[in-house]
Amino acid sequence: MSGTVRHDLPEADDFTRPYWDAAAQGRLLLRRCGACGRAHHYPREFCPHCWAGEDRVTWETASGRATLYTWSVIHRNDLPPFGTRVPYTAAVVDLAEGPRMMTEVVDCEAAALRIGMPLKVTFREAAEGVWVAVFRPEPQG
Ligand SMILES: [Zn+2]
Repeated sequence: MSGTVRHDLPEADDFTRPYWDAAAQGRLLLRRCGACGRAHHYPREFCPHCWAGEDRVTWETASGRATLYTWSVIHRNDLPPFGTRVPYTAAVVDLAEGPRMMTEVVDCEAAALRIGMPLKVTFREAAEGVWVAVFRPEPQG
């Protein structure tokens, strides 16, 4: 086996390909249900709220705005490549569109983190061509 197994990279398939293509262009995509009107994340083919099928659920570009729901500053993680990145801030954020999303908060001191603080999506290149959505504090004013 060559190289080290990484645990931070997505495995894109035909269904999630639009999501990753958009991320590489700096856009966060959500799935929204035409039957119940609710958005969800992570992307699923069916609606997790009302179980409407894939013919009723479409992609849309999220605003990228979110608020911090909870977080944990990770000081140790033995799964490559996280060990080289500690400490980092694993977080759960509430997207403006409603869905709750597991992510990371970047560019913010741990002491400055506050529940409900406004965040804005940004993207980090996790591997060549693979961009993951992370969040940073939204500048005030
Ligand atoms: Zn629905």
